Amino acid sequence: TTVFVAREADAGEPRVAASLETVKRMKGLGFDVLLERGAGEGSRIPDAAFEEAGAELVEAKDAGRADVVLKVRRPSAAEMQAYKSGALVIALMNPFDNDAAIAALAKAGVTAFSMELLPRITRAQSMDVLSSQANLAGYQAVIEAASEFDRAMPMMMTAAGTVPAARVFVMGAGVAGLQAIATARRLGGSVSASDVRPAAKEQVASLGAKFVAVEDEEFRQAETAGGYAREMSKEYQEKQAELIAEHVAKQDMVITTALIPGRPAPKLVSRAMLKSMKPGSVAVDLAVERGGNIEGSEPGKVVDVEGVRVVGYTNMAGRIATSASVLYAKNLFTFLEALIDKETKEIKLDPEDQIVKATMLTRDGKVVHENFQSAAK
Ligand code: NAD
Repeated sequence: TTVFVAREADAGEPRVAASLETVKRMKGLGFDVLLERGAGEGSRIPDAAFEEAGAELVEAKDAGRADVVLKVRRPSAAEMQAYKSGALVIALMNPFDNDAAIAALAKAGVTAFSMELLPRITRAQSMDVLSSQANLAGYQAVIEAASEFDRAMPMMMTAAGTVPAARVFVMGAGVAGLQAIATARRLGGSVSASDVRPAAKEQVASLGAKFVAVEDEEFRQAETAGGYAREMSKEYQEKQAELIAEHVAKQDMVITTALIPGRPAPKLVSRAMLKSMKPGSVAVDLAVERGGNIEGSEPGKVVDVEGVRVVGYTNMAGRIATSASVLYAKNLFTFLEALIDKETKEIKLDPEDQIVKATMLTRDGKVVHENFQSAAK
């Protein structure tokens, strides 16, 4: 089995789909590892280090030798021209509302796996790229907020006087949000958080933050089987928005992380709410790529909206690329390892396996995923 690790074509993507550790472990499985020159540059992993770990340094066209392609982002049609027909391509495919791209994967004849579709089951936890990257993004969001903030985060009692602790409000207490809470707490912020999932309440409290929510009957019933949020009723959203509006006015920092899988991000912070905040306040919108939680946030930019600095960096995990790559690479390795047949030591796909079924988008020229059949037309 030959694996190709691509250099990401997108200039805004510093991450890489293999680490020194995973190259060694793939070699340990008896795989040949081809690594495109410069693939680790954005994550500060030199070619020479990859070579020492056992990778063969190659060019993009050599992808054609590989049975498996590991990437961070979905390959373009041009990149796929080099791939072997039937090659397994494992990456973040960004499949929602991207039928044309899914059709292109089918057309290229690759067996494409979309890592963001991984089921949230215990066996898949170590492969969960959304969790590993969201965790880092939550941390980095607070770091970015702190650096945009003109004041200190912790309370400081000095001979020259006292600086109050910054009030930080984290909206959405999933993986990213919980890490943002923990990070803001470590920096000495006074932290509160909200979520529509009742289970989040306890987690927020256990991190020492205050939970802010309208806790009615609907709230209690909101947790769905898969552990994701579902869309709340209009009435609930209105009541919650009112409570949130009062709360936001008292904050120095707002960090939003609210997502609903496969749907646009819910709008949680309006211009009026931003306007109610003190001058010099900062907001970070981690949902900006999915339409944004904050009105006026712009992908890739820090903009002033009603006197609040709104940070809309995309690929937040990529801003700490070295850590992000190490974890992403490990997720992909674990996923790949699970596809190996115990006896033959070769890759053998079981289309009925829960993980394969949930992530496989295309195979043999067809769109095989049941949720993306609109791309097959
Ligand atoms: P996510 O990135 O899809 O969403 C982030 C958070 O936003 C979620 O907690 C969601 O409830 C919240 N949200 C959505 N709409 C909101 C609104 N209007 N207001 C406030 N918050 C809103 O979610 P995630 O971080 O990937 O994870 C969600 C849950 O799944 C967490 O409880 C997490 O622990 C769990 N999880 C389980 C596994 C596993 O079992 N293998 C793996 C990863 C995550």
